[in-house]
Amino acid sequence: MSRTVYVNGEYLPEEEAKVSIFDRGFLMADGVYEVTSVLDGKLVDFEGHAKRLERSLGELEMKAPCTTGELLEIHRELVAKNGIEEGMIYLQITRGSPGDRDFVFPDPETTAPTIVLFTQNKPGLADNPVAKQGISVISIEDIRWGRRDIKTVQLLYPSMGKMMAKKAGADDAWLVEDGKVTEGTSNNAYIVKGGKIITRALSNDILHGITRAAVLRFAREAQMEVEERSFSIEEAQGADEAFFTSASAFVMPVVKIDGAEVGTGKPGPVAARLREIYLDESRKTAI
Ligand code: PLP
Repeated sequence: MSRTVYVNGEYLPEEEAKVSIFDRGFLMADGVYEVTSVLDGKLVDFEGHAKRLERSLGELEMKAPCTTGELLEIHRELVAKNGIEEGMIYLQITRGSPGDRDFVFPDPETTAPTIVLFTQNKPGLADNPVAKQGISVISIEDIRWGRRDIKTVQLLYPSMGKMMAKKAGADDAWLVEDGKVTEGTSNNAYIVKGGKIITRALSNDILHGITRAAVLRFAREAQMEVEERSFSIEEAQGADEAFFTSASAFVMPVVKIDGAEVGTGKPGPVAARLREIYLDESRKTAI
C-alpha cells in the first residue's frame, strides 16, 4: 500500500514525492537524519531526537527548515495519515539543491534545505521475538570518519558492516578502534559484568544515542550500577551479558561475539529487565 510521505512542505503519495538530482544529500551525503519510534501510535522520546537533530544541523552549519513544534506536527500527521501503531518515522534534512554540483556549500539564503519524512510500519516491533533469543555480532575495524557524534547520512560503511556480518552468518557488527569497541553499525554497545552495566563514554567517537541516554537514566533510577568506559572484544566475550540499544531495536541482547558465546549464550536478566523498563517508560512518556 502506498504511504503518504512528507517532502518540503507537502504531504504526497510516495510515488509522487521527488527530490532534485542536484540535492547535496544525493551528491555529497550532505545531510542529517533521525529515526523516532512509534509505540501505541505515539512518538517515543521526540524531544531527544529533535534536540540531537538541532545539534547535528548546528555542527554542519545547516539551516533548520522548520521549528521543533512544526516537526512534531509533521510527525503526528504522518502517523495519523498512515495509521501507524508501531513502527518508525524517518526524517532527513539535507543542505538542499543549488542546481549544480560544487564542493563549496551553497548560500543558505538562496538554497533552502530539503526535508523528507516517511513512516515505516512495523507491527509487533516491541514484541520482537528476536529479543528473546538474542543476536550474534562480529567485530570489524572502525574506519568511519571522526565526527560520529553527528548523525549524518554517510552510512556506507555501517551498511558494509552489516553485509560483512551477514556473510559471516551473524546478525550485526561491532566496530573496533584502537582495540576497543566504539559502537554497533547502528546502535550503542554495552556489556554487563558482576551486575555493572558498562558502555563507552560519550565523545566524537560515537553517536550519542537517545535510547542510550534513556536506558542509562532508567538503570540508575533502578539502582543499577553504570560505568561509562571503553571495553575490548575479549572483555565483552568474557562478560556476563552483552546488549545494544537503538531507537528501533530498543534494548537487544547480544549472545555471541565473533563466534564465542557471551555468558550462558542466552539473553541475560539485566538486558531483559532494561528492555522491559525501557518499553514501559517509553509507552508512558510517548507523545
Ligand atoms: N550508534 C549509531 C552509529 C547509530 O546509527 C544509532 C542509531 O541509528 C545509534 C548508535 C543509536 O542511537 P539511537 O538510540 O538514538 O537510535
